[in-house]
Amino acid sequence: MISVDEARSIILQSAAVLSLVKHASAEAAGFVLAEDIVSTEAIPPFDNSAMDGYAVRSEDVQNASHDQPVILKVIDEVQAGTTSHHTVGSNEAVQIMTGAPLPPGADAVVMVEHTEKLDSGSVKVFLSVAKHEHCRFAGDDIQKGQLVFEKGRRLKSYDTGVLASIGRKEVMVWRKPRVAIVSTGNELIGVDEPLTSGKIRSSNNVALQSLLLHHGVIPFDLGIARDTPEDTERQLTRAIEYDVILTSGGVSMGEYDFVRETFQRLGIEIKFWKVRQKPGKPLVFGTKGSQLFFGLPGNPVSSIVCFELYVVPALYKMMGLNYSPLIIHARCKHGINKKPGLRHFLRAKISKSEKGFEVELTGNQSSGVLSSLSYADGLIDLAESRDNVNEGETVEVVVLDKEKLLKLMSLSTD
Ligand code: AMP
Ligand code: MG
Repeated sequence: MISVDEARSIILQSAAVLSLVKHASAEAAGFVLAEDIVSTEAIPPFDNSAMDGYAVRSEDVQNASHDQPVILKVIDEVQAGTTSHHTVGSNEAVQIMTGAPLPPGADAVVMVEHTEKLDSGSVKVFLSVAKHEHCRFAGDDIQKGQLVFEKGRRLKSYDTGVLASIGRKEVMVWRKPRVAIVSTGNELIGVDEPLTSGKIRSSNNVALQSLLLHHGVIPFDLGIARDTPEDTERQLTRAIEYDVILTSGGVSMGEYDFVRETFQRLGIEIKFWKVRQKPGKPLVFGTKGSQLFFGLPGNPVSSIVCFELYVVPALYKMMGLNYSPLIIHARCKHGINKKPGLRHFLRAKISKSEKGFEVELTGNQSSGVLSSLSYADGLIDLAESRDNVNEGETVEVVVLDKEKLLKLMSLSTD
């Protein structure tokens, strides 16, 4: 048996960044950039109006007021998408729409709300404008030659708009891992099947899929392998083309636990089996070439805790990102019994008092009780060597629900 830190370091050493791919920028949110993005264009590309109104020479209207409007001759009209070649001269104006190029000679725009169009082809201006008012200048947003996004950035949805504006239809990114899920167990039935004697609904594949989607990775649920060496091998053979294979169940000491031996039979090198932790002790990890195989325990909480502790950091590394869990210190609201030996990860609710963060267990800590993980915001992390926690003692908590933490810190997340 190895420690949690040893297990994590073996996994991270085994996980390699995936290959580069050219990807449509419009669908690249969530991917990690594998190149610096330098703009070959200025954005906006030309000086333009920020308002509907009149392009003027600011000096002509510097004394304009409601009582003493200035009258300017309207020499042209320019819509967005067209260009006016008329130069605005003294006491002249060009009617202009938002986004239309500023005509030569003009240095400001008067908003249409502060004007009155006259039948004579002139306009009354009721308000002065400063030089450059309501104008947007070429390169205000992005300059030609500017480094817009650096290699290693995880692209956000906004970024896809920026990439479109600078004419980048495709970008180089690191490929995302393809992750297969195989559930093992004779007792498992699907979510829509009626419960019959001795059966339970398979929930691990559902929760794992959802977690993978949450982290921006596409899951492939390959279904259930029955507890025979043949069926386990058959299902795992189907999974062999994926970058990461997650199995659940069949890794303990039971007579019908075939995952580990099947891994070996398929030429997967077992890097470790069993970690000094609770829940999640029977975790198996192996590799074949660059593929990673996680034999997650069957108990739903063990399976998810192992996913959070080990699979997530590996997936991030493969996508070209560093992952560090969010850890806080919190005051324990009550005592917790523990014997030295294993590292414990206990489901807990985080709250905040004037003294800082506080935690309390969400109830039954059996590794089969998934609802207590649903009600938890974090995992209290108790070292192998330590024993009981006293009421009021400060403990480390791995935060699972980051939005909840932000809310507790009074930061709005919307
Ligand atoms: P095992 O490690 O295969 O002995 O499974 C440990 C426990 O987890 C057993 O009670 C199983 O019924 C349960 N279990 C295994 N796979 C799943 C699954 N996909 N969904 C829910 N529970 C499971
Ligand atoms: Mg089983």
